[in-house]
Amino acid sequence: MRVDQIFSRAKSAGCQPISFEMFPPKGELTLERAREVAAGFAPLAPDFISVTYSAGGSGNSAATAKIAHMISSELDIPSVAHLTCISLTRETLAAKIEEFRAAGVENVLALRGDLPAGMSEAEAGEIAFPYAKDLIPALVDARFCVGAAAYPEGHLTCDDLPTSVKHLRQKQDAGASFFVTQLFFDNDYFYRFRELADAAGITVPITAGIMPFTSKQQVTRMVFTCAASLPAPVIKILARYENDPDSLRQAGIEYACRQLEDLQRHGADGLHVYTMNRADVAKAAMSALRAQARP
Ligand code: FAD
Repeated sequence: MRVDQIFSRAKSAGCQPISFEMFPPKGELTLERAREVAAGFAPLAPDFISVTYSAGGSGNSAATAKIAHMISSELDIPSVAHLTCISLTRETLAAKIEEFRAAGVENVLALRGDLPAGMSEAEAGEIAFPYAKDLIPALVDARFCVGAAAYPEGHLTCDDLPTSVKHLRQKQDAGASFFVTQLFFDNDYFYRFRELADAAGITVPITAGIMPFTSKQQVTRMVFTCAASLPAPVIKILARYENDPDSLRQAGIEYACRQLEDLQRHGADGLHVYTMNRADVAKAAMSALRAQARP
């Protein structure tokens, strides 16, 4: 099923789609491992599952379309395949579109991808598809339902939030029919961003992405790779449980559940959980949201 339909049906029914992100597991039995991970999510019945794509290095981008198809065809859960354009040429994009079509992919999250080491933003502007907005029209023409990324605190390499929102609007104008946000630890950033997006004429659903944190190392990585601000309550959890990894993990998952509940109460268009392939993390998030949604 198309994700834009999922959002419009949920809106008519007065509810919010709850979705998960998973990444292709590494290793030789990739599809088999992915099947196990996705099977752990299936009883939770998320509205859709998105599958990341790695443009190079450690990831396994060849598996993305196959995993997305496995999720929708075997588990009957709608799926979204991510695709990055930073390394694509016109020829390799055409081949990717064919690969995605052949695998039965319906929904694609169109991304730029992170710049390869040593490439500047100015150099990126010289390549075939420098920005996600340049990838979107070809995917829309190929009849995929296309989503894109949004940044409540602005993108890491973008100087200010209004400019980041202007770039978001360009992605909507190019044909994106839903947005998934970067993770954030402080919901106030999301609410401020949503006001700016409204004012900039963003009309497609923006689903809020939340990552339950399970270690200090993970939080530190996210702060520097995603430009996510650390609010005092998160710093206090990290300090309080510095020498107690199990309690830190538990407190991090609970913090994310409270964030998700607050977003649900404030009418976010959708809630997206960065599961890190952990069914227990996804289960905690889903239980909190379903309990709150119950009349
Ligand atoms: P863009 O929207 O193209 O923006 C990239 C930068 O260029 C930003 O600073 C933006 O402000 C700027 N920009 C945009 N348009 C213009 C313009 N017209 N003129 C000048 N500057 C402009 N990465 C992966 O490798 N694989 C994944 O599967 C993946 N999944 C993700 C899922 C989500 C929900 C999110 C939020 C991110 C994901 N990423 C993934 C990371 C993403 O690839 C990086 O954040 C990347 O640096 C930006 O991608 P984008 O699609 O937002 O790029």
